[in-house]
Amino acid sequence: MFSTTELADKLYRNKTLGKEELVRLINCDEETGEYLRSLAEKTRIENYGHDIYIRGLIEFSNYCCRDCLYCGIRRSNRLCERYRLSLDDIIECCDEGYRLGFRTFVLQGGEDPYFTDERMGEIISKIKSRYPDCALTLSLGEKSRESYQRFFDLGADRYLLRHETADAEHYKKLHPQEQTLENRMRCLRYLKEIGYQVGCGIMVGSPFQTAENIADDLLFMKSFNPQMIGIGPFIHHNQTPFADKPDGTLELTLRLLSIIRLMLPKVLLPATTALATIHPRGRELGILAGANVVMPNLSPVSVRKKYQLYDNKVCTGEESAQCRTCLEHRINSIGCRIVTDRGDSKNI
Ligand code: SAH
Repeated sequence: MFSTTELADKLYRNKTLGKEELVRLINCDEETGEYLRSLAEKTRIENYGHDIYIRGLIEFSNYCCRDCLYCGIRRSNRLCERYRLSLDDIIECCDEGYRLGFRTFVLQGGEDPYFTDERMGEIISKIKSRYPDCALTLSLGEKSRESYQRFFDLGADRYLLRHETADAEHYKKLHPQEQTLENRMRCLRYLKEIGYQVGCGIMVGSPFQTAENIADDLLFMKSFNPQMIGIGPFIHHNQTPFADKPDGTLELTLRLLSIIRLMLPKVLLPATTALATIHPRGRELGILAGANVVMPNLSPVSVRKKYQLYDNKVCTGEESAQCRTCLEHRINSIGCRIVTDRGDSKNI
């Protein structure tokens, strides 16, 4: 039987492993973990040098008609103070972002029926005509194929839709009955067929998640071969059914970032806000483990605290310009630099 160090080498060489082998790496000791990290960092540098891409995140609505059990803005959370940004608010965020050097804007929100295809279309067209040199990423959840197509035709470039878990039984434990893995996966397939650069992903340490589940997630990511993968620790929200569930750990999140970098060397892999929330240097550690993207918030400070998917989210009090400066220092402190081009995937 291979040692876990040999498995790490094998993963570096073959860019994949069998399920049982992945489970062993997911559970490996600290020493092999550090070895994995060094291989992942080397791989990141081979593919992207010391360049870190930035994306400006605009959380434009926290109304949501879904009821994901883990999420603080689920429809059943009556205590959540709801807001939505106007077209003008959104454009102001982009203007500020553009001045700060952002060339990708990410529109993320709950699934808010107020934003009909027509209203979304207006927002997309306005952003793309004002900023033809910028990429536009959407993260609006599950829509019809027609809606995805319409947004793509209007100029949207990328779409983030985490699959959350590749196991249908596990999926059922995280979502109400009417939400299915089948539909989630169908949406991902549509997005890819239409021609978006697509991102899938999971929460690390989500309730009921096993190492076998994670291995299946990794194998799904490998076969789906997306341009982007979003992973961050699950963090409980006190007004959800998972209020008492333990949070995902820093160590496992970093380990998975490294494994993903080795499986998909060119993937765009953010060090997420959730990772920054569970450790003061979470973003830096994420990059050192293989991540190459950061997505600071461009939302108006007045609404930031309200887009609370989980408790204690960081960076909700600072202006966008402050976040940008802070991020620059953090990234420079680990020998990397922020680049301000669109940062398209090298895997298209
Ligand atoms: N409504 C859209 C986008 C917003 S949610 C969608 O469903 O895609 C974006 C991501 O935040 C989700 O995919 C989920 O993985 C993550 N998230 C939600 N609640 C979380 C929590 N409590 N802890 C960590 N991540 C969470």
